[in-house]
Amino acid sequence: FERFRKGLEKSRAAMADRLLTVFRGRRLDDSVFEEMEETLILSDVGVDTAVELVEAIRKEARKRHIERAEDLPEVMADVMAEFLGPPVEMAENPEGPTVVLVVGVNGAGKTTTIGKLAHAYKSQGKRVILAAADTFRAAAIDQLLIWGERVGVDVVRQAQGADPAAVVYDAIQAAKARRCDLVICDTAGRLQNKSHLMNELSKIRKVAERELPGAPHEVLLVIDGTTGQNGLVQARVFKEVVQVTGIVVTKLDGTAKGGIVFPIVREEKIPVKWIGLGEGMDDLQPFDPRMFAEAICR
Ligand code: GDP
Repeated sequence: FERFRKGLEKSRAAMADRLLTVFRGRRLDDSVFEEMEETLILSDVGVDTAVELVEAIRKEARKRHIERAEDLPEVMADVMAEFLGPPVEMAENPEGPTVVLVVGVNGAGKTTTIGKLAHAYKSQGKRVILAAADTFRAAAIDQLLIWGERVGVDVVRQAQGADPAAVVYDAIQAAKARRCDLVICDTAGRLQNKSHLMNELSKIRKVAERELPGAPHEVLLVIDGTTGQNGLVQARVFKEVVQVTGIVVTKLDGTAKGGIVFPIVREEKIPVKWIGLGEGMDDLQPFDPRMFAEAICR
């Protein structure tokens, strides 16, 4: 919980600290809820989601016979945790390697997230292999190699410009031969050409499925938490081209606008599975809705 709290410091300052001064010594009246709504909107919760949340908080406060505004943070945390739903674990393939595709626009934090994931699983004693299937940018391959070295896991790659699906094929073969538990695949993130992206990702899917029935077991969409509504728009495009099973919201340490997680959950209807709270390899946390709500409200 301390990790969550520390990583979300800026969002907490904008939300909990601000509300604390608003609430102090006040009785519950409409103006208190109006200021709450304003605070949520300033934290990137978005107007629709803020209205919905405040309404639920107002109802719950009434139900609990709360009279002092100072007692609201506890109600807020409970309502927000409920809104975000229960934590959802990563899918696992019990019969062989689990294949994870990581998608998202360039710069969202894909490569960093893959490095952190590899570290997290390796620390649990799992054997991990990475696939450099963003073959469009030489820098993407190099970046993944650097992470592979840092974390101590192998990276399967081909030359720049190679067929991404062929890289994924190689990686799955290698994972089977070396009895790996997890194959994490980087993918290209160019949104400029949607049909190209769609072809590329569906070809990767097909190859993965052919080599390992049920693969990819998990498709993680990485969203930069600092890009506000823009991040939501990008998410929509990826959802159109590939079946996303989980979301990673990155860079929440660098922003006071952690409230973006709420509209993501509300609009995407896909569980947030991880959040990025820094650039280091330990700075990826499984998303715990209760901890998240507590960290920003109290
Ligand atoms: P990609 O193009 O999607 O692969 O993005 P990268 O993984 O290269 O990340 C882009 C930048 O964001 C890099 O400078 C990362 O260090 C930084 N970054 C990624 N995740 C986080 C995070 O959770 N917190 C912070 N502060 N920076 C991050």
